[in-house]
Amino acid sequence: MDNRALWEKTITNLRESISKPQLITWFKNTAIIGTSEDTLTVGIPNALAERQLAQKFNKQILDAAKKEIKQIKTIAYRVDPTLDFKNDSRAVDFSFLKGEEKPKRRKLPNKAEVKIGEFRSVMLDERYTLDNFVVGPDNRLAHAAASAVANNPGKNYNPLFIYGGVGMGKTHILQGIGNAISRKYPEKTVIYQTSETFTNELIGLIRKKKAETFKEKYRKADVLLIDDVQFFAKKERTQEEFFHTFNALYMAHKQIVLTADRPPKELAGLEDRLISRFEQGMVVDVQLPDYETRIAILQEKCHQYGVLIPQDVLDFIATNVTESVRELEGVLMQSIAEAELENTLPTVQSVAKRLKKTNKKKELVGYKTQEDDADMVKTLPELTRRAAEFFEIDEKDIKGSSKKIKFVLPRQIIMSLAREKLGYTLEEIGDYFGGRDHTTVLHAIKKVKTKCEEDKNLLRKVNAFKKESKL
Ligand code: ADP
Ligand code: MG
Repeated sequence: MDNRALWEKTITNLRESISKPQLITWFKNTAIIGTSEDTLTVGIPNALAERQLAQKFNKQILDAAKKEIKQIKTIAYRVDPTLDFKNDSRAVDFSFLKGEEKPKRRKLPNKAEVKIGEFRSVMLDERYTLDNFVVGPDNRLAHAAASAVANNPGKNYNPLFIYGGVGMGKTHILQGIGNAISRKYPEKTVIYQTSETFTNELIGLIRKKKAETFKEKYRKADVLLIDDVQFFAKKERTQEEFFHTFNALYMAHKQIVLTADRPPKELAGLEDRLISRFEQGMVVDVQLPDYETRIAILQEKCHQYGVLIPQDVLDFIATNVTESVRELEGVLMQSIAEAELENTLPTVQSVAKRLKKTNKKKELVGYKTQEDDADMVKTLPELTRRAAEFFEIDEKDIKGSSKKIKFVLPRQIIMSLAREKLGYTLEEIGDYFGGRDHTTVLHAIKKVKTKCEEDKNLLRKVNAFKKESKL
């Protein structure tokens, strides 16, 4: 059995324990790139996938491979960005997983359109659901009301009015309601529209002298979802039309859900009769989620995007990004993208740096906000201390004489950085490490270089350490 066949069989075996979308996401560009007696080396295109495979799926992969070849005892993982699967004979044929769609990344609601009669309406974004909306004390009521409405449209709260600040999840809930109803009641016509589009559409039709067709469209709705109604302010004709639409739908027991950035009473520039309509059903707010909910939201987003981010980084983001959930999600995504680009994982440092750039005034919690220079490593003892922290080993083991790879490698990395970045001489470095010969130091430096060339993963680690130490 060649490597490709072996890997294909292994992945097929994995179907028992790993879901297909997960398999496609994480195994798509992988291949066996080496075998020895009892070890399989798996090549992986990026560090995120490597982490996922090595940390989360290792046992399953090992078990699945053992089913094919009994002797296998370990799986080694190596990041190899050069794997080119378009014309690579090692590439696994994934057609056996056909029919499964690759999980899509979440985007902002897209502008795809659906036809309703002769009209068009913005389609719902399927990825906003009530299930993946993370519930905490500050949005529980809104979520509960939304679920009640979704289960029995037109019966419970009509209209449902959801308000809250920017980026608090109003659009998510609104679309979630639409999606839930479309799924449960496929025969119902669900119209989602922002108030701006609603207005523009009306203006367009008035110009074409076809304003009456506007009525037809909206009165076909079984469920009308209008986002951000604060934009109706001062638009008298739109308010007039909306008022009649509202009444017609309401009388016919059709469900109406509205969102705005403030409660009905505070909607300046809106007619009183509209405001009183908005208040006659249920009014709920969504507020900024507390710390625990913010963490849960970050975890949910990581899950959706299929990435694994260190807990301390999530913690740091949740502590420091408190303005809105949108910002929370934005910082997370940018951190991931940046790290992916630079071939490292996001760290507290890299996220802190990004946050400092976007918000200079803000004090960051959980991170030393000294001047950048203060973090810079300048001396060999300091470098050693930081490396010990970074590689999670004892300083005295680095400086000692142990030949364990766990200690030798960091020791060699320190030697190399001390020479190349801090300008120490070979002799000085040798002395510092208990009077070693300068040729030993030279050997160490060469060793680090070749190892980094062979092992992209190590290179990445060294790069992350250099970055953190400002070297
Ligand atoms: P708003 O309409 O209130 O300005 P959005 O609904 O567009 O805010 O939310 C901004 C982003 O934050 C969206 O990507 C949304 O999925 C996410 N979001 C907000 N609240 C939550 C939550 N409780 N759980 C999961 N995601 C959330
Ligand atoms: Mg919105």
